[in-house]
Amino acid sequence: MQGTSQQDVIVVGAGVAGLSAALALAGSGARVTVLERRPYVGGRACSYLHPALDEVVDSQHVMVGCCVNLVELSAAAGLTDKIRWYDEQTFLEPGGRSSRIGSSVLPAPLQYAPSFLGAGMLSLSDKLGMARGLLEFFRGYPQQDDEDMETWLRRTGQSERSIRHFWSPILMATLNDRPSMCSTRYAGKVFHELFVKSSQGGRLGIPTVPLSEFYQGFADHLVQLGGRVELRASVDSLVQRDGRWCVTAAGTNYEADTVVLALPFEQTRRLLPALHSDHAAAGEVVADLDQRAQHLVHSPFTSILLWYDREICTLDHAWLLDTTIEWFFHKSRIRRSPQQQGSYVELVIAGSRAQLEISREQILTEAQRELALFFPEVKQAKLRKSGILKDARATFSVTTGLDAVRPQQRTALPGLFLAGDWTQTEWPATMEGAARSGRLAAGEVVGRRDRFMAPELPAEGLMRLLL
Ligand SMILES: Cc1cc2nc3c(=O)[nH]c(=O)nc-3n(C[C@H](O)[C@H](O)[C@H](O)COP(=O)(O)OP(=O)(O)OC[C@H]3O[C@@H](n4cnc5c(N)ncnc54)[C@H](O)[C@@H]3O)c2cc1C
Repeated sequence: MQGTSQQDVIVVGAGVAGLSAALALAGSGARVTVLERRPYVGGRACSYLHPALDEVVDSQHVMVGCCVNLVELSAAAGLTDKIRWYDEQTFLEPGGRSSRIGSSVLPAPLQYAPSFLGAGMLSLSDKLGMARGLLEFFRGYPQQDDEDMETWLRRTGQSERSIRHFWSPILMATLNDRPSMCSTRYAGKVFHELFVKSSQGGRLGIPTVPLSEFYQGFADHLVQLGGRVELRASVDSLVQRDGRWCVTAAGTNYEADTVVLALPFEQTRRLLPALHSDHAAAGEVVADLDQRAQHLVHSPFTSILLWYDREICTLDHAWLLDTTIEWFFHKSRIRRSPQQQGSYVELVIAGSRAQLEISREQILTEAQRELALFFPEVKQAKLRKSGILKDARATFSVTTGLDAVRPQQRTALPGLFLAGDWTQTEWPATMEGAARSGRLAAGEVVGRRDRFMAPELPAEGLMRLLL
């Protein structure tokens, strides 16, 4: 043992949830220490030096305009200029036909109507069906979460092409799973916030630096507020006696009145046997959390990283339609690397269960073949390096019935709070969901749940009359 350190609050996990909770509490005067088992911050939204590639790599993470808490936290940490915002998005079909979707001067909810009307990827009847479908989300999203999106797509008579070229790509990108695994409640929220309520909600924001560098900005801000982040500090025991916690990580004891566990559901579950308390509610709380965490399922994510000797196109990013690869990020352009360094590209396959069983070589060969369908320059370019990142536990699926399972941030055990994207936030597994969970947990610690929450984006245009 290396001694004992006295704190007001210990946060376990330096992912977006943990950092957000810690920032809120340190900002209101608490002595906060974050314990993180890895040598860097960011959690699942991290970057690291890949030993075989000798490159700092990450899996592309994007945010949207309605990620109000994440945007606010980034601004407070001085990171506003490390996010590049895009108002227009390009949908590409094999062969190169492109449809550009962006907002216009028309008032919400008509802001995207001109670009959808002009989109060659959809026929007029596809578009009419989509407009009918979107009407269901005009006033918000369903309160019930008992219908999945596959059923909804059938019920509202969506065409096969509108599913392939609109509904499914948006669901895969935002909820990281296929329609049958997505509750209409969560999908409805996405479509309402991104396409209906305002012209700001659907803007795409992409960090221009590797993710752990980005989130180190959060950690630095925490230190400015008097907090601490201990890296390589894997928590292996949490013991509460007479209302006081003793948390052990890497041989050091940390004492505090309050613990915020900011871990994913499977890691929360793994730590539960190491949690002991003399409080009467302890056994019930542990059993309840274990039970809830058992109900969640993971959805994987695959990133294909390619370094070419020349620039293969002039787009920063694009949706890739009708292929296994779904999204193209031109990281060298997004990060404004010198053009002569060539193209550094990431291709994304969301909800990639099948790819877990497929060899890296096979994924790489197929991805390059598909990429050339959109950008013929790929055939002339020389591939200098490549890497495949498979993450089997990237996100949780927002299946129907999920809301009954997600735990609140306040537990029945005094002094124990939960954060993490899987807790009750009404958001899917996203950085914004994690930021909300952290701020909600901090709010519960100080006795007012919404104390640290950013205001939601206001409805614009005609939507102000409807909502
Ligand atoms: C490949 C991929 C792509 C994604 N794309 C997007 C995207 O484009 N946009 C988006 O918004 N979201 C995206 N997500 C989801 C997003 O990354 C997560 O929802 C979010 O980062 C979760 O944050 P969290 O803090 O809840 O959990 P985590 O990020 O998992 O943080 C938990 C932290 O706890 C640490 N920890 C675990 N056990 C212990 C222990 N015993 N002691 C100490 N520390 C411990 C972990 O090391 C980790 O740092 C993506 C996720 C992945 C994996």
